[in-house]
Parts: sequence; structure tokens; C-alpha cells
Amino acid sequence: MKIFLVSLLFVSFLHAQSGVEVIRGGTFDPRIPTPQSVLGYSIGDRFSEYHSINAYLERLAASSDRIRRVVYGTSLEHRTLQALIISNPRILARLDEIKDNNRKLTDPRTLRSKEEAGQLISSLPVIVYLSYGVHGNEASSPEAAMLLAYQLCAGTDERTTSILENAVVIIDPNVNPDGRERYVQWVNSTLGRKPDLLPYSLEHSEQWPGGRTNHYFFDLNRDLSWQTQIETRQRVKFYREWMPHVHVDYHEMEYSSTYFFFPAAVPVHQTLPAEVLKWGKIFGKGNAEAFDRLNIPYYVGERFDMFYPGYGDSWPTFNGAIGMTYEQAGGSRASLAVRKPNGQVLSLKDRARNHFITSIATLETSVKNKKERIEDFYKFWDSALHIPSPTRGYIVSGDQDPTRAASVIEILLRQGIEIYRLTEPATLQVQEYFVSKPFSRKMPAGTIFVPLQQPQARLAQTLLEPVTAVSDTFFYDVSAWSLPVASGLKAWISQSPLPAKAEKVTSAEAPSGKLIGEKTAYAYLIPWERHGAIPMVWQLLEKGYEVSVARRPFATVGRHFSAGTVVAFAGSNRDSLATDLEQLSRQFGIDIYSCSTGLTDKGISLGSSYVSPIKKSSIAIAVGAPVSSNDYGELWHLFEQDLGIPFSAIRATDLGDIDLSKFDVVILPDAGNYQSVFDSTKVDRLRRWMQSGGVLIGIEGGAQFMAKSRSGLTSAVFKSEKKEDEKTKEEKEQEKAKKEQTKRMTLFEKEERSRNERIPGTIFAVLVDTTHPVGFGMPREIYVLKGDAAPIELSEVGHTVARFSKDSVQTSGYASRDRVQKIAEAAYIQDFRVGRGRALLFAESVTFRRFWSGLDKLLLNAILFLPQPD
Ligand SMILES: [Zn+2]
Repeated sequence: MKIFLVSLLFVSFLHAQSGVEVIRGGTFDPRIPTPQSVLGYSIGDRFSEYHSINAYLERLAASSDRIRRVVYGTSLEHRTLQALIISNPRILARLDEIKDNNRKLTDPRTLRSKEEAGQLISSLPVIVYLSYGVHGNEASSPEAAMLLAYQLCAGTDERTTSILENAVVIIDPNVNPDGRERYVQWVNSTLGRKPDLLPYSLEHSEQWPGGRTNHYFFDLNRDLSWQTQIETRQRVKFYREWMPHVHVDYHEMEYSSTYFFFPAAVPVHQTLPAEVLKWGKIFGKGNAEAFDRLNIPYYVGERFDMFYPGYGDSWPTFNGAIGMTYEQAGGSRASLAVRKPNGQVLSLKDRARNHFITSIATLETSVKNKKERIEDFYKFWDSALHIPSPTRGYIVSGDQDPTRAASVIEILLRQGIEIYRLTEPATLQVQEYFVSKPFSRKMPAGTIFVPLQQPQARLAQTLLEPVTAVSDTFFYDVSAWSLPVASGLKAWISQSPLPAKAEKVTSAEAPSGKLIGEKTAYAYLIPWERHGAIPMVWQLLEKGYEVSVARRPFATVGRHFSAGTVVAFAGSNRDSLATDLEQLSRQFGIDIYSCSTGLTDKGISLGSSYVSPIKKSSIAIAVGAPVSSNDYGELWHLFEQDLGIPFSAIRATDLGDIDLSKFDVVILPDAGNYQSVFDSTKVDRLRRWMQSGGVLIGIEGGAQFMAKSRSGLTSAVFKSEKKEDEKTKEEKEQEKAKKEQTKRMTLFEKEERSRNERIPGTIFAVLVDTTHPVGFGMPREIYVLKGDAAPIELSEVGHTVARFSKDSVQTSGYASRDRVQKIAEAAYIQDFRVGRGRALLFAESVTFRRFWSGLDKLLLNAILFLPQPD
């Protein structure tokens, strides 16, 4: 009976091109074009391409006085990023005033009195921002966005007009147009006259890399707090103009599921106010009532948490909105129509309809609770100014690497976080990150201070705090992220307030470097500690200069130069060297030192055999299945966007067939299973290439493939793959006890245990061998974001470049005790000699989402310093 009812509703829904059954007795202005009249088909009949969506929205914007279409940016593939601002024409006429008044609420310091706040609150419409299609292959929501825009522009019924009289509705119809278009072009190309409902057939089986991510295969729903991608940067800028009271990010999950809306699951980040839970319930109730009326199944409160700050629900919530994720059953496996395991058919029409229904319900809930929502929005900002905490601010050191500190400042400023710079030295009570004792320390002028007493206190605290307070064991995403730690910068918590002698930082200045000493020198020395030295040295190689690396430390010109210092001899280079170095030092913010003799005061001489030439390596990176597109994307972005180092992307399936002698370095990013594409003949080719000098770098799955038990390319053993006779007595006993325990566990206990045993992304301290080329320029102790991958057993044959200590120091985030113990005394990076070449294994990614930028050098050192010169 239920099925019959629902299908009847579909008919009326589709007939009128909008939610007739949602907006009961809905009536429409015939002058406003329906989606069908422009697209040539009704919503849900097929997947709308980018140009069709744009064509409809442009027509709609030209036909209605309820809408303003704003182009707020361009995607990496040059597609338009746009928003539709829809409201009553009288409200549209005063948008600037509304924006200004709303922004005043976000900084209560600018208000003269509570009464002024009260007046602003009553004068404002509720601002509801709805984002569709951040994951391109969760393709129903941009279709729903067109329906919603039509309903709001054409609807003449009371429910529609009531929304418009009380709300400013901002619709971002296509947050990730590149990913969506990748999906839509593909899926449309697979479809026949009738959909095949079998979920395994081609139209349901999306090909690599899929449409979820943007051009560089980044997940835009993890990037809001770091803004590594230009789509996010433009979106955040536009979002901050509006600072909405409600934000919804529309998604899809497994096709076999139902529909998820808020309240969210636990954990909810501790800095968020309790009202967040209250509003989750209020909006959940509104959506539930709409779905109950139509007999549509749904669930709340499970799985989707509010912990990691980079999501489309949490980030708006850290910005005062109630930010929510709605998830419709679907995704690429659903294609145009699919039969669910329960026998029901799920169509694109159903998926778009459900997102449309919750869009209307959310707008109505927002309007119904308008005053209370805006009051809570104001309270969010007001209470941020009075958060009780012994922490008064965060101090980020710019000394080690001013360029990197500038990039952290830029990330914070883009989110409206207030930052100050000390104009005079000040003695402050501080606590070093991950060190428990506070002490008094004189901070020099120029020190960066982020005070906690500011409207953006919650976001500042969340991004900068060294240790995330973990109250739960399950995380949908990583459980730790501290931005200074991820950037490899030294930082302190300050228990002293912001000193009076400080100025507000309004822009992140990229510092300039200089050539120190004579321009007619014997040699020029480039210290390797700062990140900018990497692209700078690459530029020198590109320009054809000969440069070398000092593999041992030395002292000259009154300064210590550690191993990894790059040396450019005047005698082996063109006369233009000094001028070019001067220009590059400014560009990359690196100080270069000139010296007039090869003799040093201490350590090796510059002509020592420990000073060896660097090769401009020719690099290949494996791409395509089975490589993880996210991990490949991180490397792609690092080399191409961040460093300007070219490489060739070679399909993993082709790597064993091509002439590898063209390459000095081959990188195998994380992947499902390289054995599926490397048979023994191909493995032999890789081995022979290494024996003649090739450097093979494997990351996570790539490294696991290089292990003894898989390809046999190295003798590396991963902790998870130990054979019975390789286990210690203690390990055997622990395993036995666990097996015994398992026999008597309930199903629930088993599920809990496997959840608890995960390492969701947790910060660990790792020790680096800085005398090994891969460790050059790195500190002795680094912080890594560790996920679930197994570390490598220490080895006598392979050289361990980086390892977890005996105590396996977990510094922030969640990990079970058992797992922490297993990581102890294991390798994070291991190096094997294979003939003239090398095999370098990274147990896990060192480039996580590119916001973890402090470990890049480990990878770049391998590329610059390991290949043998010709
Ligand atoms: Zn999604």
C-alpha cells in the first residue's frame, strides 16, 4: 500500500515540475520558465550537464524579480562558481543593509548595547545557505537545486511567499562543477534506452578517478578549514560576506540506505555550544514531519559526526550557523535507477525529490524559528568573547620558516581569525606544544599572537590547539589536526593575555630573502631548513646550473651549515649565477650565503667527497586504478601547484611495460593492490631498473607492495604481515588471549572492538635520522598524522630513516592502547639499496590533504638526493 501511495505522489510531483504534494495546493506564476521548458526534459529524467544547469539558471534569473545570480568564482577547469540569492523583491532591494547588519552581530564589540543587538535581530530575515553537489558523483542535489530555485521564483502559494517574506535563501547549485561534470559525462555515456537496474552493470560502476573530487582529486568536503583548493577559497570568501544562520550541505550515501539528516552523531567538537544539539533536533523534526507525511524512510543521529572542522556542516557551525549534512541514498552506484536490496527501485527522480523536500522543510523550519535562530547566532559570537579558559592565546613562531608561517597566517585570516604581531619584546607565561609545564619566556618583537578573546575564538582554538579533546572512540574522519603542528612550525600556548604593544596583522606577507656577502664569491650556500629552498633549488636546476649537496655539516662565514646545505660553485657555473641567486632568494624568501674560500672553519671542506652533485631528476608517478586518486591528487598538487616540479603521470598498468630508463624516480602512491597490475615479469623489470640506478618510492600501499611478502623487491616486513616464526613470545601470548576473548563476545562487543581498534588519524611523534639524505634539513623529532596503515619492522638490511620510539609517543587524537603498543619501535620510513638504485618505503602518506605540509621535504629529499648522478 505504501509503495502505491508513494508512486502516486511521484506522478503529481513530476507533472507539475515541483513539489505539488509538498506545497499543498501549490500555484505557479506561468511567466516563470519551468526546468522542463528550458532543459527539454523533466528533472530526474537524465543527469543535467553543466551547460544545461547554467542555461536554466540564467533564464530563471532573467525572468524573475525574486532572484539575484552572483558569480563568485571559477573552478580549476574554468567553470563558473555561482550562487542564487532568492527572496521577496522588497528584501532583495536592501541586501547590502542586511549583510551589514548581520555582520555586526558577528562582532558584538561593534554594538553599543544589547538593545541595538535586539533591534538588529528583529530587523533581519533568516539567512539560509543551501550547498548542492560538493561531491560531484552524488549527483541528485544539483537537480534538486533547480527545482527549488523554480519553486521559490515561481510559487505563488502562501507557503512559498511566507518563506520569501522571512528569509534570504542562498542556493549554491553546483559547488564542485568539475567533479560533477566528470561524473555526468561518464554516466550519460553509459546509459542505454532503459536503465539497467542491476547495481553491478557498467552504468553503476564508475571508473577511476570518479566524480567525487575536484580537478586535483581533492575532497572539497574536507577542505573548508584549510582552503588548499581555489574552489574552497572562493567559496569561503563568498560565504563570509553572508555569514548565514543556517547552512546545509547536500550529499548522497550508499544506494541501499535511506535518508540521513540531523541531529548529528557524536562526537560533537567540544568548543561548539550546546545549542548546536538543540538546533539539530529542531531541524530534524521539521524534516521528519515532511517525510512522515509522504511515508519516506530516514534516520538521524548515527554515523555523521561533528568533530573534524573541514566539513560543510562543521565549518559553518564553527562560524555561528547551524550547519548540517543531509545524505540521500544514491551515489554513483545508483546511476539513473537501481534496484535496492529490498526490491524497491530508487530513481534519480526520487533522490532529487527527497532533497527538494528537505530543502523546503529546512526553509520552513528556519522561518518558523527565525527570531530564536538569529538570537542564538548572536549569542554564539557574544559568548565567544567570554570563553573561560586558562589559555589566552596561541603563539606561532615565524623564526624557523617565515614563508610557512605566512601561509598559516593566511589560512587563519581568510576565516576572519584575528591575529596580532608583537611590536616590542614581551615576557609571557607560555607552554610549548605537547610539553606540559608552563614557563616564562621572552618573546621577540614580530612574534605572532592569536588571542583567544575574539569573536572567532572557537574556530581559532579548534584549528590551533595542540591536542584535540577526544571524548569518543569513533570518528568519521581524522581525530587530530593542529595547524602549526601540521605545518611543521614551533608553537606555544600563552597563559598571558595579548601584550599591549602589538599590532593587528591584516595580510600575510611572504618574506623576502637576500644574498648575504659578496656577489663575486667562490661558492654560494643555501641552507636546507626552510621549505622555500626546495622550489628554489629546483629552479636553479631548471636554469641549467650545477649544484651539489653537502652530506656532512660544516661551519663557515660565522654560521653553522647542517647536512643538506646546497652548494653552488661559481667556478662550475655561468656568470649569471649570482644575479639569478639574488632574484630567487627574494622570490622564495631564502637567505643565501656567499663564501670566498673552499676552506671551512669546522667540518668538511667544500671540495670534500661528501659534497656531491644533485641531478635534475626525471620523475614518474603511477596513476589510474588501483592507485588511490586522493593520494595521487596530493602528489599532483604538491609537485605541480606548490613546487613547480614537472613529472609524468603513467598508468600503473603501463609502468611494467614502458622504458623505465627515461626516469630517475618512480613513485607508487597508496593503492589497493599493485600485485593486480604487476606480474612477475613486470616486477623483474622494476628490479632491473633499480639495480641500474632507479629510485623507487612507495607510499603506504605502494610501500606494502615493495615488501618481502608481496613483490619481494625488498626484504621489508610490515608489522601486520609477520609470520608465526617471526613473532615474539609476548605477541603470540597477546594474540592467544584475544582469540580466547573473541569466543565469548556478543556481536555488539565485536563491532565495538573493531571500531575501537582503528587509528582514525592521530598525531604521533616520530624520530628522524637527519644524517641520512632523506632526513636532511628536518628536525630530529617530527609529528606525523598516523592512520590505520601498519608500520614496518626495524631491519638490519634496510636503513630506518624515521621511526616510532619505544614509547610510541601519541600526542593528539584517538588511538587504542593496544594499537599504540604495536606501533612502538617500528619504522615509518625505510631505505633499501637495490644494486645501484634505491627502494624507499613510506609506511604512510606525508602529504595528507596538503594541509599537512610540514613533511614534504622527506619526499623531496628522496627525489633530489637519492638518484645517482650520471
Ligand atoms: Zn558526499
